[in-house]
Amino acid sequence: MTAKTKVGDRLPYLLSSLKAPRIAERLAETAERAREEKWAYEQFLEVLCEAEVFAREASGARTRTRSAGFPAHKTLDDFDFSAQPSAERPLVMHLAQLSWIEEHANVCLIGPPGTGKTHLSIALGIKACHAGYRVAFGTAQQWVSRLEEAQERNTLDQELKRLERYQLLIVDEVGYLPLERQAANLLFALVSRRYERGSIVITSNRGFEAWGEILGDAMVAAALIDRLVHHATMVTLKGKSYRLRERGTATTSNARPAPLEN
Ligand code: ADP
Ligand code: MG
Repeated sequence: MTAKTKVGDRLPYLLSSLKAPRIAERLAETAERAREEKWAYEQFLEVLCEAEVFAREASGARTRTRSAGFPAHKTLDDFDFSAQPSAERPLVMHLAQLSWIEEHANVCLIGPPGTGKTHLSIALGIKACHAGYRVAFGTAQQWVSRLEEAQERNTLDQELKRLERYQLLIVDEVGYLPLERQAANLLFALVSRRYERGSIVITSNRGFEAWGEILGDAMVAAALIDRLVHHATMVTLKGKSYRLRERGTATTSNARPAPLEN
């Protein structure tokens, strides 16, 4: 005896084969609404597919953001432009459109400690993750260690190639510590490998004139800067440290608590 089948009985199985759980979730409710409101067939399908695609995009953005290795979650919405007038809002908002990533161009954020360089670099990185780009964050020191390890294993070239998978690398804190000659050469290799192939956001507390000293070699510094800035937007931040400033207001007026440190 064959069991009677109802229209739609096979849908749970078919939707699970298609790996479309959100369509399965919303099917009954959407079908009821479609009947009540007499939707066209196309509208019904469109609403369901949209739910699936939006959810997939959101989960892709979450996965990319998680795997980028950001030290904190910082966004442009949390950035107080009135506290940092040297970060010109229209320029930063233009960068947030990310056309520079499509063009394999770079962004250099230069300014004293506490002026929002890391914050802005993370915020742009998160934007990029949401737009579907693969991003990896590290301090200059971390990138150098990673490349040193690869070099010791004789796999530097493969490692540099592997990093091409990321459309955006963030290299934070160039200049906090001076680099050994070997480290400076590795940083140069990284920048030069990505030249016109992928984007870099680099942050530094020192202007380019000091990079010869940081990298321990004026020639390497000049060659690196040359490649870095050929297609780059420079954002020069000025002023007092936001950390100290927040601490200052907190002690005098007890206003807002200081933000969490990275
Ligand atoms: P830098 O990398 O330039 O040393 P950070 O980006 O780490 O500075 O900023 C220090 C702290 O102050 C972080 O917690 C950051 O979120 C916060 N901060 C800095 N500038 C601003 C700003 N204009 N608006 C809001 N928070 C800020
Ligand atoms: Mg920083």
